[in-house]
Amino acid sequence: MKLEGKVALVTGGGSGIGRAICLAFAREGASVAVNDIRGESIDETIRAMGEAAARALPVVADVADSSAVRKMFATIRAQFGTLDILVNNAGIGEVSGQGEVERMNRVAEAQVAEMMAGGPVKTRWGVTQSMDDGVFERMLRVHLFGTFHCTREALKVMEDKGSGRIVNISSVAGTSGLEGAPHYSAAKAGILGFTRSVAREVGIAGVTVNAIAPGYIETAMTEPLSPVVKQMWTMNTPLKKSGKPEDIAAAALYLASDDGRFLTGQVISPNGGWWMP
Ligand code: NAP
Repeated sequence: MKLEGKVALVTGGGSGIGRAICLAFAREGASVAVNDIRGESIDETIRAMGEAAARALPVVADVADSSAVRKMFATIRAQFGTLDILVNNAGIGEVSGQGEVERMNRVAEAQVAEMMAGGPVKTRWGVTQSMDDGVFERMLRVHLFGTFHCTREALKVMEDKGSGRIVNISSVAGTSGLEGAPHYSAAKAGILGFTRSVAREVGIAGVTVNAIAPGYIETAMTEPLSPVVKQMWTMNTPLKKSGKPEDIAAAALYLASDDGRFLTGQVISPNGGWWMP
């Protein structure tokens, strides 16, 4: 049991990667506060924990809302009295709304068809020049501000205690950029800068701060992408396959457990080779 007696908070724990992290941490003995924006998905995650469900705490909150995050931490403190591990995982997809997903899929398909026909590739993404302020802002609010809001509250516990583990979920979009997703890539790259800065700040208090930058993982977030986009991403991956949420949970467990004690300010990227630093 690598996390026996530890208390963890996982944001966006109701689905995909967040759910796999909650289940891995619970299996390793942690008490897990499961956050998500929807209560039903949290309940499903907790049900899947089996006997460890008795140690779990559901905490519904929008991580983009700092007052909701403060209330969530008050609930966690009231229940557990402490926090050892924070995983900032909550996120929204790089394209919002079904219409936009379909448009992006059509662009990718047209580009592949043009390439297969010998080029040139003429179909443009046209994303950045037509992006609304609100769409850009919401993306940064959920990913980057959400990570900041939760980290700020967690450090109030961890720095006093003299120990703690913070794991921030970034993306290969943040390390190498992703076409058609300027807001998502900016948010994920921002998380890397935030991770390194906070790691330097709080190392002296015994708190480690690291990031995970997954490649293409099969979850509800990537499910609406067209088979052509999925094949493009797989072709871009030297291992020629997508990853599973459990591949990311294994990295999170490593960083959160004693095994990862000498890592801070680092980026671990389970990505099948998509991005190589
Ligand atoms: P997912 O299955 O859609 O899970 C994300 C979860 O976060 C959902 O349950 C979602 O709720 C929740 N959420 C969204 N906004 C929230 C908010 N404001 N406050 C609290 N919870 C919120 O997607 P996933 O693929 O597991 O993504 C998890 C993380 O991995 C994200 O940060 C994502 O950017 C990152 N990532 C994913 C991939 C990939 O290929 N899948 C690759 C690199 C990085 P709703 O379902 O209700 O929106």
